[in-house]
Amino acid sequence: MTDPYNPKSEKPCRACSDFSQWMKVGPSKKSAEVQESVQKFAEQPELTKKLAGSKKQSESSGSDSKNLPNVSWPNPDQALIDFKSNVCPPDRSELGSATWNFLHSVAAYFPATPDPSQQEDARQLLNIVSRLYPCSDCAEDLRLDLKEEPPVVTSSEEFSQWMCRLHNKVNLKLGKPQFDCSRIFERWRDGWKDGSCD
Ligand SMILES: Cc1cc2nc3c(=O)[nH]c(=O)nc-3n(C[C@H](O)[C@H](O)[C@H](O)COP(=O)(O)OP(=O)(O)OC[C@H]3O[C@@H](n4cnc5c(N)ncnc54)[C@H](O)[C@@H]3O)c2cc1C
Repeated sequence: MTDPYNPKSEKPCRACSDFSQWMKVGPSKKSAEVQESVQKFAEQPELTKKLAGSKKQSESSGSDSKNLPNVSWPNPDQALIDFKSNVCPPDRSELGSATWNFLHSVAAYFPATPDPSQQEDARQLLNIVSRLYPCSDCAEDLRLDLKEEPPVVTSSEEFSQWMCRLHNKVNLKLGKPQFDCSRIFERWRDGWKDGSCD
């Protein structure tokens, strides 16, 4: 899928695609290598046993698998059980990373020329996060930060740079390294210039 906010971009919109859609688009040179490793992974004997039931199930459900690689995916019910027993509620750090993933992606995919209501939505989003964020001292600091430097939401570029500065403020407070904001779109939208994300 192309990026709806950036239709002229030649790259597919990573944030708009899940793995199965991405495989349907047709592999690039790099993704063909990935496809090969997925195939190798799925051919491991112990995995083959585990997946045997799911293959039958997907065949009988008549799902359209023509465009997908020849890989058997886990039985969805089994996947749900594994999910429940292995995954724990996020701690402060996991919640923080997940939230930054979301906030930077919102900023990176924000329109280049947002209309007034989109700008208002972006401001509201930050205000709401600052009131509801489950880490209360983080939320309190965010409310102060928003007062000190209100969100700049006049374009995707400005919003992304503002978000980068906000994140760097938190990094500084936590003794973490500063991020180079000139690479914000590489990190959160386009992938690194060396092509390692293509
Ligand atoms: C609004 C908010 C406030 C928070 N306040 C606190 C707090 O007060 N105390 C606390 O302990 N934790 C706080 N956190 C969590 C904290 O910021 C980190 O998310 C957490 O410590 C995990 O850090 P990390 O090293 O895994 O990477 P994270 O800081 O979560 O960063 C995730 C990824 O973002 C990229 N990145 C890093 N910096 C930037 C930047 N400036 N711009 C763009 N991309 C960047 C890097 O690639 C990095 O791997 C807060 C989180 C949020 C969302």
